[in-house]
Amino acid sequence: MAEQLIIGGARRDAAAGETFTVLDPSTGGALTDVAKAGVADVEAAVAGAHAAFDDGRGAWARTSATERGRVIHRVSELLRDRAELFADAEARGAGHPIGDARWEVGAAAGTFEYYAGAANKHFGQVVPVQDPGLDVVLREPVGPVALIVPWNFPLLIACWKVAPALVCGNPIVLKPASLTPLSALLLGDLLVEAGVPAENVSVLPGPGGVIGDALVADRRIAKVSFTGETRTGASILRSSSENITRVSLELGGKSAAVVFADADIAKAAAETPMSVFGNAGQDCCARSRILVERPVYEAFVEAFAAATEAIAVGEPLTDTTEMGPLISAGQRQTALDYLDIGAAEGARLVTGGDVLDRPGFYLSPAVVADVDNSMRIAREEIFGPVASIIPFEGEDEAVRIANDSDYGLAGSLWTGSATRAIRVAKALRTGTLSVNTNRSVRYETPFGGYKRSGLGRELGMAAMDHYTEVKNVFFSSED
Ligand code: NAP
Repeated sequence: MAEQLIIGGARRDAAAGETFTVLDPSTGGALTDVAKAGVADVEAAVAGAHAAFDDGRGAWARTSATERGRVIHRVSELLRDRAELFADAEARGAGHPIGDARWEVGAAAGTFEYYAGAANKHFGQVVPVQDPGLDVVLREPVGPVALIVPWNFPLLIACWKVAPALVCGNPIVLKPASLTPLSALLLGDLLVEAGVPAENVSVLPGPGGVIGDALVADRRIAKVSFTGETRTGASILRSSSENITRVSLELGGKSAAVVFADADIAKAAAETPMSVFGNAGQDCCARSRILVERPVYEAFVEAFAAATEAIAVGEPLTDTTEMGPLISAGQRQTALDYLDIGAAEGARLVTGGDVLDRPGFYLSPAVVADVDNSMRIAREEIFGPVASIIPFEGEDEAVRIANDSDYGLAGSLWTGSATRAIRVAKALRTGTLSVNTNRSVRYETPFGGYKRSGLGRELGMAAMDHYTEVKNVFFSSED
């Protein structure tokens, strides 16, 4: 029997009775069948969310922030209790190495914990005004929200949206990517079990071009939070303009790791490969452009390639695996095409780029040197295990090349000089930057992109602003 979708907290078949098959990326074979939502299911989910919210008079919206925080905390506890179930779903469904998947479930639970604590610490103000009286700024839930997520981190990215949206009092309609709907459905059940009133929770797997479009076009949806490709984000922005729907967008990236000659080169070369090849390169924060200062360039390329060759590529469910398969045959083909494009542009393949002789969508991590920033492999998001290493001369050129990108999502800076770290960190046009490490995302801090990498910020207290409206109320003190 196919996995059912969730409308108003209840599992059911799609209205049209349709299903689709989800593949296991590690074998290429069928994993399971899932109900395929259509526009009738969108109508049922949105109508239910709208009724549950009832212009802010719904029970969840009126529940105290403290109580909503308690329920959201219960979600984090249940996630930790069921960590192995969720990690297994992510390893099988998205091809993540099981160790990474366990870490992701912990981070998902941490996200709910963070927002459970934030629930009653995000509030309005009393503003001193010139008129006689009392001026109060209130924070209110924005209304039913559509949360549209990609396939690369299906559970974690869903939780980044679900936790703040719910804790602020909004009903959610969660739309997982068609390639990876399983962990979102498990999460939907768990939210209701934790005590989120059922009518506030819908999870709709189905084609983005049909149900994503229908969700965004629906006037009863107050806000859309989207993570995915820049092209899809642009189309969502266009559709949402008709209804002036609130939109936040987390989009693509082509982030740079900048390695200066005064850095700890051995550390940078050992750690940077996983900043590109983690999740088989399917990471919006992947440092897919590695900029290295000329005097250490050749030594760095050699050490980086050696560290890359040591990465354990294999079965997601094997404990020692560091890199699993890509999500689909198409995603692997895209990476292979870019390797051909790079070769034709004059770049040098140092190692990797081999299709493994086994079932599933495996590709060995590829290191490409002598890349110029004007080449397509340096400009376009590949979203696969391809690292382009680009030489530079001096600080000004490093900053110029790093900033010469349509994107501005993440980045790293490797240097032994504190003063240089300050100068370059301030000069780089990117939403997230790590100095002498590759760690990108912390749920306590705002995350998002400059330029074509997005609009708005997720995580941290910034997300609480997205899921609330500001109301100003003035009470006259004049009789
Ligand atoms: P995608 O093709 O844009 O899809 C993302 C989601 O949008 C999926 O659920 C998809 O549904 C849905 N969708 C597709 N067309 C739609 C439409 N017209 N209206 C509404 N929704 C629609 O992206 P992806 O290939 O899944 O993910 C990879 C991309 O995400 C990369 O570019 C990556 O950089 C980006 N990303 C960004 C961040 C960040 O935080 N900045 C994080 C992770 C990933 P279907 O699956 O049914 O097509």
